[in-house]
Amino acid sequence: MPTSDRFKALVITKGDAGQQVAWSEYGLADLMPGDVTVAVSHSTINYKDGLAITGKSPVVRRFPMIPGIDFAGTVTASEHAEFKPGDAVVLNGWGVGETHMGGYAGMARLKGDWLIKRPASLSAAECMAIGTAGYTAMLAVLALEAHGLAPERGPVLVTGAAGGVGSVAIALLSKLGYRVIASTGRASESDYLKGLGAAEIIDRGDLSGTARALGKERWAGAIDSVGSTTLANVIAQTMYGGTVAACGLAQGMDLPGSVAPFILRGVTLAGIDSVMAPKARRLVAWDRLASDLDRAKLAAMTTTWSVAKVVELAPQILAGSIRGRVVLEV
Ligand code: NDP
Repeated sequence: MPTSDRFKALVITKGDAGQQVAWSEYGLADLMPGDVTVAVSHSTINYKDGLAITGKSPVVRRFPMIPGIDFAGTVTASEHAEFKPGDAVVLNGWGVGETHMGGYAGMARLKGDWLIKRPASLSAAECMAIGTAGYTAMLAVLALEAHGLAPERGPVLVTGAAGGVGSVAIALLSKLGYRVIASTGRASESDYLKGLGAAEIIDRGDLSGTARALGKERWAGAIDSVGSTTLANVIAQTMYGGTVAACGLAQGMDLPGSVAPFILRGVTLAGIDSVMAPKARRLVAWDRLASDLDRAKLAAMTTTWSVAKVVELAPQILAGSIRGRVVLEV
């Protein structure tokens, strides 16, 4: 089991000159308190990590901070009843990488209550290929199911299709038997999206203009990682009794729409939060990911880099130019 008192960590500091990001040598004593210590083997980059590293949005609320909202690794020390040295674990969210030191480091120390045991059928690299983006896509699928969506009800739209949440959502929905409509700004990724299981590709420009109160009914459900006018259009074009799971803001935080779809078509808007989701729901989501996510499709959407590359990748994920998911080897 790898364990070291000295390790590399990506550290964000803030001073008069603004935010600085640099690799530093850290020791266990530099980490924050916690009852479990983990040797990190893999991490990933999510949209929020891009915001943290670039400082484009104030997601980091404590300095110095090690970013990285996800990691997989092996427990090296534990005072928590559920974990012992040697256990394979996964961490998603809980403010890690924002208020508690995160995954872009050789070691992490945190509350054991935040960890889950790595599902037996998934490797550490596969768990990070899924990451918060994929686990959020699963939470969104669970929300659609909880509101009665089923393949026979009609097609499901996925916006931000070529991104991380979108790619995993398409793979999951198509395996579950849904006809998936993928909305993307990258027509060049049509073959990639069809390979993941999209039956139809639409241009995201179709959905980004000012929304009418009600539009033609086009989908029974949707998973939206874009927000703003796109989400308003998605809701306005949802079929009677359908459900839209809102999980992202790649276009914007606003929602300039009408209540008409809710009060005239009984449409449900389901909010998705991965960060503070209770442990029981996380375990359900990870169980379903282990059973319902096609591994060949997961591999097809994943690019692997050394964690040293993460600072270069941060502006790229914010620009929407990263396809699918990234695994970072720590
Ligand atoms: P990615 O950057 O991988 O994907 C976002 C995708 O959105 C892009 O690939 C692009 O897809 C599309 N997009 C980007 N900019 C715009 C724009 N201006 N207008 C319309 N579409 C755009 O990010 P993730 O998949 O990791 O995350 C997606 C969103 O979900 C983020 O906003 C993130 O913060 C949020 N999120 C929320 C979570 C939660 O707990 N609620 C957890 C995880 C993520 P394409 O090229 O196909 O058009």
